[in-house]
Amino acid sequence: MLFPYLADELNDLEVAGLRRHRRVLESPQGARIVVEGREYLSFCSNDYLGLASHPALIEAAQSAVARYGVGAGASHLVNGHSVLHHELEVALAAFTGLPSALLFSTGYMANLGIVTALAGRDDEVFADKLNHASLNDAVLLSRAKFTRYPHLDLVVLEKRLAASRSKRKMVVTDAVFSMDGDIAPVPELLALCECHDALLVLDDAHGFGVLGRGGRGVLEHFGIASERTVYMATLGKAAGVFGAFVAGSVELTDYLVQRARSYIYTTATPPLLSAALAASLKLIDEEEWRRERLRELIAALRQSLKLQRWRLMDSATPIQPVIIGSNQETLTVSEVLRDHGIWVPAIRPPTVPKGEARLRISLSAAHTIEDVAHLAAALNELESAA
Ligand SMILES: *Cc1c(COP(=O)(O)O)cnc(C)c1O
Repeated sequence: MLFPYLADELNDLEVAGLRRHRRVLESPQGARIVVEGREYLSFCSNDYLGLASHPALIEAAQSAVARYGVGAGASHLVNGHSVLHHELEVALAAFTGLPSALLFSTGYMANLGIVTALAGRDDEVFADKLNHASLNDAVLLSRAKFTRYPHLDLVVLEKRLAASRSKRKMVVTDAVFSMDGDIAPVPELLALCECHDALLVLDDAHGFGVLGRGGRGVLEHFGIASERTVYMATLGKAAGVFGAFVAGSVELTDYLVQRARSYIYTTATPPLLSAALAASLKLIDEEEWRRERLRELIAALRQSLKLQRWRLMDSATPIQPVIIGSNQETLTVSEVLRDHGIWVPAIRPPTVPKGEARLRISLSAAHTIEDVAHLAAALNELESAA
C-alpha cells in the first residue's frame, strides 16, 4: 500500500470508538426518517422549526427553478448575484432590524470570511474554548494571535483582553453552543468588548429562528443593538434550507464584499435556495406556534428524563445533550436506541472535549409530546439497565 499510515490511523480510530461512519438517509428530513430501509424517530437534525421539507418552501424553490434555472453560474462579483439573492439580503436585513445583510454559501465560509477579513497578523482574536470548529479554523487562517478562554469564563477573558497589546481585538463566540445548547452571556460580552475596544462576532447558527421575538435570534433575545457586533447566522438549521448571512452596518457588509475571500472566490449558491429561504423567513416570523411547541417539548423532555449516572446538561434551547462520558458507552447507547427505532447521534471527541462524549438530542417543532415521551422512557430504561 502506498500510504500505510492511512489504514493504521483508521484502525486506531476504530479501536478508540472514534471512527465515523455515514448512514444513507432515504427520506426528507423530519421527525420520522428512513435510513437504509428502516424508519426511525429522529432526534438528529438541526431543522428546529420543521421547515426543511415544508410545502411552501418546496413550492418557492420549484417556481424559482422554473424561472431561473438551477445553477448561479458565477461568483457574486462576476455575474452570479441574482435578483433572488438580492431580495433575500434585503429581507434578512429587514428581519434582523440591521442596516445590511450579506449572504454567504455556508456558515463555515461566512466565519472564514468574517474573521480573515477583519483580523490579521497584528491583531488578536479571543475565542471561547467550546466555539464551533469553523470559528477556530477562521482564526488560524487569519494569522491573528489566537487566545482561547475557558467556556463562558468572563473573568479570564477580561484579564486577557486587558493584557493584550495587539492593534485590533476581536471576541468571537457561538451565541448558542452547538454541542451544549447553552446561551452565551452576550450583554456581558458586549460590555467587555466596549471596555477594551474589541469587536464582538456572534455566531447565531442555533439561535436564529429559535430565540427572540419572531425568531429574530440572540440580539433580539437580549434586546441588543450595537455597531460593535458582527451578527452571523446560518440558514441550513432552523431556516431549513442552506447558507448563511452576516448582518450589520452597510460599511461592514460592503467591506466583506471587498475583502472576504470565501465570499469572493466561490460560485454563488443556486438562486432557488434564496427563493426557498424567503418563504422560510415568512414562516419563521409568522408561525410563533413552532417556537411554542419547541418550548413545550423542551420542558416535557427535561421533566420526564430521570437520570442517575448520565447527566442532562442545563439547556433552554432545542439542543438537549445527555453526557455519558466514555466514547464506547455513548456509541453503544446510540446503537441500542437505534435498534429500538430511535435515532440520536453519539457525539465524541474531537467534536466535544475528551471524557464528555454525549448523546446530542435535538428537538424540532415537527416532534409531538408523545415522541419526546417515547425517547425519555427509552433513555430512562436504558440507563437503569446499564
Ligand atoms: C453549523 C454551524 C456552522 C456551520 O454552518 P454551515 O452552514 O453548516 O456551514 C457554524 N457555526 C456553528 C455554531 C454551527 O453550528
